Amino acid sequence: MSFAIAGKILHVDLTHRRVWSERVPEAWIRQFIGSRGVNAKILWDSLKPGVDPLSPENLLIFGTGTLSGTFAPTSGRTTVTCKSPTSHLYLKTNVGGHWGTELKFAGYDYLVIHGAADTPVYLWIDNDKVEIRDARHLWGKDVRQATELIQQEAEDPSVQVALIGQGGENLVYFAAVMVSVYNAAARGGAGAVMGSKKLKAVAVRGHGSVKVADREGFYRSCHVAIKNSYEDATAKFAHLYGTAGSVPMVNEARAFPSYNFRQGYIEGAEKVGGPYLAESSYLKRRLGCNACIFCCHRYCEIDTGRYAGCFTGGPEYETISALGTGCGSIDLEVVIKANELCNIYGMDTISTGNLIQWAMECYEKKILREDQLEGLRLEWGNGDAIVEMVKRIAFRQGVGNILADGVKRAAEKIGHGSEKWAVQSKGLEQSRVETRAAFGYALAFAVNPRGPDHLHSETIAEFGTRPGGRRLIKKITGDEKYANPRLVEKRAEIVRWHEDCFAATDSLGLCAFINTSRFGVDPQQMADMFSAAIGRRVSEEELMRCGRRILTLEKGFNVREGATRADDTLPWRLMNEPLESLARGQDVMKAVEQRGGVEGFVPINSPQMLNRMLDEYYDLHHWDRKTSWPYRETLEELGLDEVIEE
Ligand code: SF4
Repeated sequence: MSFAIAGKILHVDLTHRRVWSERVPEAWIRQFIGSRGVNAKILWDSLKPGVDPLSPENLLIFGTGTLSGTFAPTSGRTTVTCKSPTSHLYLKTNVGGHWGTELKFAGYDYLVIHGAADTPVYLWIDNDKVEIRDARHLWGKDVRQATELIQQEAEDPSVQVALIGQGGENLVYFAAVMVSVYNAAARGGAGAVMGSKKLKAVAVRGHGSVKVADREGFYRSCHVAIKNSYEDATAKFAHLYGTAGSVPMVNEARAFPSYNFRQGYIEGAEKVGGPYLAESSYLKRRLGCNACIFCCHRYCEIDTGRYAGCFTGGPEYETISALGTGCGSIDLEVVIKANELCNIYGMDTISTGNLIQWAMECYEKKILREDQLEGLRLEWGNGDAIVEMVKRIAFRQGVGNILADGVKRAAEKIGHGSEKWAVQSKGLEQSRVETRAAFGYALAFAVNPRGPDHLHSETIAEFGTRPGGRRLIKKITGDEKYANPRLVEKRAEIVRWHEDCFAATDSLGLCAFINTSRFGVDPQQMADMFSAAIGRRVSEEELMRCGRRILTLEKGFNVREGATRADDTLPWRLMNEPLESLARGQDVMKAVEQRGGVEGFVPINSPQMLNRMLDEYYDLHHWDRKTSWPYRETLEELGLDEVIEE
């Protein structure tokens, strides 16, 4: 018997209405740990290159973490994997909530969706009973409504549902798969892939449990992880203020993306920050994913005013910047309302906000006119226009139809140089990190297989603002002095370490808040929990090597799709325009002074700087500098024979 995992992969072919299962090969856990790693292996083995992401040939894979279903702290994360309609490259997107654990309790570690149905369906998994059910009555319903209807049909409000809203149905390129209503597998358009398959939802009820091999050892290692996590001072901060807690300080550091990444600072940002939210009447509850010890999620309601009756999970830091300050707004009610709509329509708040601010800049430059917007005045900070645009995108109304294809395609269509303020690369809208103020992040964003965001490698340690971060930088580079976000030196080492760690974390089903964001749990402690759970000693080195193997397989997927070094880049604006608020003399000097005269301080990600970091990064990985492709020996060394063959 296998420990920790349920042991089965559930396959559903929607074209032929066929359901079957197979055992999870033990070698896959050994090589790829679980979740993200095994998903990548399934995608590599089963998807032919060149497939249209919105065709029935694409796969949609859900993978639970190997530690999911246990009480390992933050182990409720699930990875969703497919070929992305946004980038036409590899996509993994990670989500919390409770659905993944329920799937495991139903007896399955992985769910692989093949083909596409003719008419809307939903999948009903009730332990070992699996049915493809008619969902015509659910099509057109939002995430909240459809979840409730499915739970009513099951006569069980505890049934867990992963589903799409109207965004996914309408093939919005950045539609999310929503889980437990307010958790989003948001980035890269997995919801559009689900919509293209006419799969409205996957509802799960599971009554099983997960067994670990060494109960005492597992308890001990989890206890250490929990204790260490609580000793990190930021754990309490995360609980009290959520991800939004950092808004005021990031703004003060002139690194808070505002006005479509034209500024790193906005006056009054504290009014949309976590501490303000915590004191406000909007915050009603703090929520957590399964087995979480931080509970960083918020739940808000608006009781009075023009948005009275609005209620939603969030807002997170990213959402506040995307739907608020990025659009020039510091109105918290607007952010909460737009967040609610994105959640119930099932759309990525980051991409949605990015599109709206790009359109605002087009409006400012008179490229988009009021008559094209059916009278909408898309001025910076116009809250009602922000909320209205979210609706128009979800339902592809008017100009919303152009925006729904993502900012890269929208800029290609609208033209007039608007690609220069389309803040994307690989077709994915950049997440809300000011990479001109943090060069490790800049490199991590450029090489991320899915596009520029922080969820493949969160290099927060490079800021050196916390002792845990400084210790980590010393461990990676040999010297604390490299905990300096405006140094180019050692960024390659820092990024590669974080990539390995992040891949292992995702694959175990843990949350990044436990290590690369908060420094409580190091890879050795993850290896201890993993070893005790599966009953085989896994060293820290082996775990990190698995992370490297996963990352390299993901890279291999992109290479097979034709990606080259030219794809490892950053948005035009960030490489060619200095950060406005830093470029004003006084602020630059202040920032330099605060950092004690930082060498190499430039508020821009110049192509020269990026190229230097890329050379070092490819050398470190032993990938070809010219093409960025892994060398044969690198693949051999990692045991990725299947990639060598292709
Ligand atoms: S820290 Fe936040 S995102 Fe991570 S598992 Fe906990 S609640 Fe979910």
